[in-house]
Amino acid sequence: MKLQVDIAKNLAEVRGKIAKAAERAGRDPDDVTLVTVTKTRSLGEIEAAIEAGARDLGENYVQEMEEKAGALPAELRWHAIGHLQTNKVRKIAGFVNLVHSVDSLRLAREIAKRAEAAGRQVGILLQVNLSGEESKSGIEEADQVAELARDMADLAHAPLAGLMTMPPWSEDPEDNRRYFRALRELRDRLVDDAVPAEKLRHLSMGMTGDFEVAVEEGATLVRVGTAIFGPRQ
Ligand SMILES: *Cc1c(COP(=O)(O)O)cnc(C)c1O
Repeated sequence: MKLQVDIAKNLAEVRGKIAKAAERAGRDPDDVTLVTVTKTRSLGEIEAAIEAGARDLGENYVQEMEEKAGALPAELRWHAIGHLQTNKVRKIAGFVNLVHSVDSLRLAREIAKRAEAAGRQVGILLQVNLSGEESKSGIEEADQVAELARDMADLAHAPLAGLMTMPPWSEDPEDNRRYFRALRELRDRLVDDAVPAEKLRHLSMGMTGDFEVAVEEGATLVRVGTAIFGPRQ
């Protein structure tokens, strides 16, 4: 017997859970975008998700993203969610919409430069490491986030659009609530501290194990793979 994952049904379930979590928090479900994480998934699997309405796709690796973007419809929105090397930026600058994982001015400047050369804008989220885990990339100090946000003010082709975080893996999603809340509070402090609110409108947080908690805490982008496609090989 072949195990068939019902991608359309899974997507509908995830959307339903996002909507319920938003309502619990008194938020508009339309303010949350589901980023369907397609790393390691085949074109056939991704096409099934697109058929079921997925438009925002997240990839970790540049080469995989490049190949898939070339083979799939142009109207999709691509999100770079993994650690991005400066020397790979030019490969995706022509089509990527949002880079979630920026942690240095050098990388932000490279994205701006390559986006300008491609005649486009690529949005940027600053990745914040709130747990101090050494294995995770991201900026650890709030002061540094503020400084970077200010230094990025003149990057017209790589506008700052918000913050991203990735808590440590945990069995219990409630364990991660404090990190999601901390990211929202950091955003609020930065806005009070004169970073324009529209530069920080997005909070990218929550994955398969904890996206409902993240939405309750204010996520505007959730990055979900396993709950849609099943376990990765
Ligand atoms: C793989 C990945 C996800 C999705 O993880 P799932 O647990 O499969 O939902 C989200 N964000 C990042 C940065 C990832 O690398």
